[in-house]
Amino acid sequence: MKKYVLITGASRGIGRSSALLFAKNNYHVFLNCRSSADELTQVKETIDRIEGASCDIVMGDAGNPKEVREIFKKIETVCGRLDVLVNNAGISHIGLLSDMSDDEWDAVIQTNLSSVFYCCRAAIPKMVSEKRGRIINVSSMWGVSGASMEAAYSASKSGVNGLTRALAKELAPSNIQVNAIACGVIDTVMNSQLSESEKKALEYDIPMGRFGSPAEIAKVIWDLANAPEYMTGQILGVDGGYL
Ligand code: NAD
Repeated sequence: MKKYVLITGASRGIGRSSALLFAKNNYHVFLNCRSSADELTQVKETIDRIEGASCDIVMGDAGNPKEVREIFKKIETVCGRLDVLVNNAGISHIGLLSDMSDDEWDAVIQTNLSSVFYCCRAAIPKMVSEKRGRIINVSSMWGVSGASMEAAYSASKSGVNGLTRALAKELAPSNIQVNAIACGVIDTVMNSQLSESEKKALEYDIPMGRFGSPAEIAKVIWDLANAPEYMTGQILGVDGGYL
């Protein structure tokens, strides 16, 4: 029998890799992103070419509560409940905090942190009624240690980590596991603004000597979806030894 997963921010990077991995392993995947309709359609087309795989596109801003309600209405027309929710959508913002506008701050917090609240709030009731479900939040090592020039991003991911730990306690009696991944530097569009020399300098600081790949994070997301039920409330570092 098929299982059901919603992956926010699935048009590229970590979300796309995760979508392909779940689709290949008997999950019906709900693919979300806010605005990259063409990229998301390409992901759907790739999944549709895999024998036995299936997916639906559920476009919408994960950081907007009304749009998240619409996303879940669509999901409910296909399945009773999600087996797995992967809160992956995220944006970065690099710059001095003192130069940041209200709108820029709001965009980072809404996209990275409030989206996790909106999607969890929508997914939890049906998981609770079945006493089963997994929530996996894609966080960052900067949410653990803080990064200069990325204060808002670090704050949003610290929030995700705190939410993960607290929600895991709240939902453990309902047999729902909530975990997060504190990713290190991963080779995605999010880091495409780095120059070659900046990339080299960053690689020098990473004990593994390289950026992680989206596929490596997807594998950890998959592992968390299949981990023993007793594992919950954890912030898993996957950072090439950086922290
Ligand atoms: P990416 O930029 O390649 O992908 C981000 C995805 O999120 C895209 O599909 C984009 O369309 C989507 N998205 C952005 N805003 C959205 C919104 N409001 N609603 C719905 N979808 C939205 O980046 P990535 O590296 O694959 O990032 C995925 C997650 O991993 C993010 O939460 C990011 O913070 C986290 N992360 C990335 C790194 C890294 O180095 N790349 C490090 C730590 C954590």
